[in-house]
Amino acid sequence: MDISTTPSSALVSEERLAEILANPGFGLHFTDHMFTVEWTPEAGWHGARIEPYGPLTLDPATAVLHYAQETFEGMKAYRHEDGSIWSFRPEENAARMVRSSHRLAFPVLDVEDFVQAVDALVELDQRWVPEPAGEKSLYLRPFMIATEKFLGVRPSQHVTFMVIASPAGAYFKGGVKPVTLWLTEEYTRAGRGGMGAAKTGGNYASSLVAQQEAIAQGCDQVVFLDAQEGRYVEELGGMNMYFVHDDGTIVTPETGTILEGITRSSIIELAGKLGHQVVERRFSIDEWREGVASGRITEIFACGTAAVVTPVGELRWEGGSVPAPRSDDLTMRIRRALVDIQYGRAEDTFGWMHRIV
Ligand SMILES: *Cc1c(COP(=O)(O)O)cnc(C)c1O
Repeated sequence: MDISTTPSSALVSEERLAEILANPGFGLHFTDHMFTVEWTPEAGWHGARIEPYGPLTLDPATAVLHYAQETFEGMKAYRHEDGSIWSFRPEENAARMVRSSHRLAFPVLDVEDFVQAVDALVELDQRWVPEPAGEKSLYLRPFMIATEKFLGVRPSQHVTFMVIASPAGAYFKGGVKPVTLWLTEEYTRAGRGGMGAAKTGGNYASSLVAQQEAIAQGCDQVVFLDAQEGRYVEELGGMNMYFVHDDGTIVTPETGTILEGITRSSIIELAGKLGHQVVERRFSIDEWREGVASGRITEIFACGTAAVVTPVGELRWEGGSVPAPRSDDLTMRIRRALVDIQYGRAEDTFGWMHRIV
């Protein structure tokens, strides 16, 4: 893919940048540039370019605004102590966007083009990648939207893929601490044949009211159960789940209606290397309750790119609760192992890291 570059003539000043990187928060500040490539049936993908970051002009009839034909990715660029900049398994994000694209009736953007776009933006905006201290990173948001001006219901004949980037601070300020979960019995996030396995804004739109309920109940995050029977644990709004048992085995809900996290699949490999067998199967809410009560479940954790790994504490629902499991030792060991690979402090024996700069 040929990428043309128009450098910004109004770069954020070094002083302002230092201020932002000292306390970036999440999703608040954006780098100097953005990547765009467009698709039509006649021309295929064309017009790949990096331009100054700025607002889009969209016709009010643009398809994505009405029918939510959209898919996105979430990944990070990490600065290592030697100043080099790396991403974590970017071809996995690219491959997942291909799968999401099939579900959303989008054209396919090649894995190599996706990775090239991300690399080009990060290279140009490399001064925005924070120092590694305190688990800071540059969060990367590739996304694809239906940009045809048409209110008819069919796959858009004009598609735009973009990459934007935003410096991110540590997910946990003041140290990792367990999240309290709210079990929603009213809402589900995905059904058989639905979009649960696609990374698409619609899934997030449908999770917001449940997440709001969780917050109103004094919890941090919401847990969704399967739509068919309301018995099996699926995942949180944006994180996959793991249950550690006293015999060392770890259970994680099987794929199908959940989003296949790249952190999730990395942990399956990592835990294997640490001598723990990971079983992918259905896991019921009764098993959760009884397992914690009997001590058979020793740890529970959730995982995703943003938080990496977070211990799960208490589970609550209307009229009931399950206390936190007794430990978080393995959880914290897995977390440390993953973070050390990402920041180049441990040898990358899996070949997961991709050097950008
Ligand atoms: C992105 C996402 C995850 C986590 O995936 P990672 O690739 O590990 O970041 C989990 N669940 C949902 C619903 C997601 O959108």
